[in-house]
Amino acid sequence: MSVTEHTEQTAYLRKLKNYLIFLKDCGYSEVPQTIELNPDFSSSPAINKPSIISTNSPTMARSSRKKEEHLQEVRDELGDCTRCKLCDTRKTIVFGSGNANADLVFVGEGPGADEDEQGFPFVGRAGKKLTEIIEKGMGLNREKDTYICNIVKCRPPGNRDPEAEEISACKPFLEKQLQAIKPKVIVALGKPASSTLLGRNVPIMKERGTWHEYQGIKIMLTFHPSYLLRFYTLENRKLVMDDMNKVLAELKR
Ligand code: URA
Repeated sequence: MSVTEHTEQTAYLRKLKNYLIFLKDCGYSEVPQTIELNPDFSSSPAINKPSIISTNSPTMARSSRKKEEHLQEVRDELGDCTRCKLCDTRKTIVFGSGNANADLVFVGEGPGADEDEQGFPFVGRAGKKLTEIIEKGMGLNREKDTYICNIVKCRPPGNRDPEAEEISACKPFLEKQLQAIKPKVIVALGKPASSTLLGRNVPIMKERGTWHEYQGIKIMLTFHPSYLLRFYTLENRKLVMDDMNKVLAELKR
């Protein structure tokens, strides 16, 4: 074996080892056969990996630009929002981030302290967990393959739950964001996002892992990453990965 071949083999085995450790961490005791979780074992943002979105054709490039423009119009309409009392305490409006042309949108609850500081969703501890789920677990690239936003765009003080009036003031903008992006799949993270999108009180413990429909778009309900961090059991991690496998299967259909 040449030195190059040996180096390549070592790198491959390291990736394989990391992948197996990751699966174990998710609660698997054997390698799942149904869906390739992270098929190329890459644990960093999609190195040499095609995005599930391709903007190669001129038509695609045109419609891609349209979605970005449409999303920007929604952001412009939101402006320096004062539609609810969260404007009194927020530092930054956290509109959303990622690819306007993504097939997959994650919807969370509302910005926390880190997000309020930085202006981007899911950049704190829960965000790191979500990024890990997307990149290590699903083998996708967070920035290229997904768009992430929240049901309210401003931080509820002390990280309390957003109130009904705050959710209703912000919901039209969430709806417009989703209409602009028109993803194939939405993942609702936790009870507030699931209940807001489905317009009813969702018992998340009972309904996680199930498919629903939101304005003609398939929506998967799963645990919020903060819940996962608080109750960090193998069972919960495995349940979330099961849900994400269903999402991957739907995206590939
Ligand atoms: N939790 C959320 O629901 N959204 C964020 O952006 C961060 C934490």
